[in-house]
Amino acid sequence: WRQRSELKAMADLPPELEDVLSKLDQEFWVPTEKLHSIVEHFIEEMEEGLSTGEPIPMNITWVHSLPTGDEKGTFLALDLGGTNLRVCKIDLQGNGGKHSIDQAKYKLPPELKTGNANELWNHVADALAQFMEEKKLGAEYHERNPVPLGFTFSYPATQDRIDHGVLQTWTKGFDIDGVEGHNAAAQLREAITARDLPIKLVALINDTVGAMVASAYSDPETIIGGIFGTGCNAAYMEDCKSIPKLKADLPRDSKMAINCEYGAFDNRHRVLPRTKYDEQIDEESPRPGEQTFEKLSAGLYLGEIFRLALVDLVERGLIFKDQDTAKLKKPYEIDTGFLSQIEDDESTHLTTTRDLFQSTLSLSPSEPEIELVRRLAEVIAMRGARLCACGVAAICKKKRIQKGHVAADGSVANKHPKFKKRWAEAMAEILGWEEGRMEDPIVLTSAEDGSGLGAAVIAAMELKRRGEA
Ligand code: BGC
Ligand code: MG
Repeated sequence: WRQRSELKAMADLPPELEDVLSKLDQEFWVPTEKLHSIVEHFIEEMEEGLSTGEPIPMNITWVHSLPTGDEKGTFLALDLGGTNLRVCKIDLQGNGGKHSIDQAKYKLPPELKTGNANELWNHVADALAQFMEEKKLGAEYHERNPVPLGFTFSYPATQDRIDHGVLQTWTKGFDIDGVEGHNAAAQLREAITARDLPIKLVALINDTVGAMVASAYSDPETIIGGIFGTGCNAAYMEDCKSIPKLKADLPRDSKMAINCEYGAFDNRHRVLPRTKYDEQIDEESPRPGEQTFEKLSAGLYLGEIFRLALVDLVERGLIFKDQDTAKLKKPYEIDTGFLSQIEDDESTHLTTTRDLFQSTLSLSPSEPEIELVRRLAEVIAMRGARLCACGVAAICKKKRIQKGHVAADGSVANKHPKFKKRWAEAMAEILGWEEGRMEDPIVLTSAEDGSGLGAAVIAAMELKRRGEA
């Protein structure tokens, strides 16, 4: 394992820990040949999804093009993701994507995530009402002139139209009664109407499509929008003639943004390397059997995989002997930020890592234990980044895209110190980029605010399409 690791050896490990590490290394390492076979399966499942909606949903989004950069107007955007509830007022000025954003964040109480639909939409509509009030928008907008809203709903939804979206399944640990199988846009609209808010819901969008569109608003090289955060997913532009399940009467050469929902890749367990920790996460999640790919690669789970591996070693009597491991035993006690900080630690004697274990888990790791946790953080994040490359590489191979920008958002892409580099290395292995190249043909760029700006630009494009702008 030492050959594969980027870490400098800090301590000699006792033979039993050496053994543990070489096993973990083997279980988590995804070799180049495996990357290739994952990508092949990925392409197959995407094509099936475009025909049948399964196993990867490949959702039709009714976003027909990328923006020109000239879109204009004032919009509200509402962002309901895995972690945030945010309302934005966005002024689009056009002219190559000029814009300004005024926003407020609201709490999303944890109880809400396992509550019911009414509680959710009341809470969300209250946030909208509060925002309208705070920003004094009431005078400007009224019943006859409501402000158009783009709603970023970062979950898989079946859309018959752009202002409609039936939730297929909750993901990212959400488990709210009464939304699955229902039109989330209509539920939100009802709560807005009940409060007499002068708001008109124009579009329901996914965060991946938002990231792609927001970035394309100013960067014409954008090819894909990807979220590498609490959840994991991507969107791209597809040719309508390659979407057999699309039954609309559209010109033959038209395009459609597809929200892949590829967190659901390999739900049939044909190719992904799953460890017993991954199986445990799945079994104990609110939706076992779903989001297989996401559970191996997204921010919500990386810390939990790490925690479960440590608990396993504690139970086998290999680490933290005679220490109180009560905190370590709490599910989801460790988040991805914890792993990022470990991998970021370049302090002498790794004091940051030591302090982190002390403050978060009340544990004092020995030198060999420090060595072990660092390597564990590395193998888990490395596997995640390499798998994330497979999803994007599959889109590029399928569409024969050879260059461009992948507009990326989410805590893993933006806050993990080594994600981008590892992702790029895996992309090079998969797509066979030549060594010594001046630059990578496909690059991960930091997306513009997809869930805010992206929602506004999509609403603007939709109003224009309908001839209402
Ligand atoms: C959701 C997607 C979303 C992704 C990133 C997944 O769990 O199903 O709709 O794009 O998370 O937020
Ligand atoms: Mg988000």
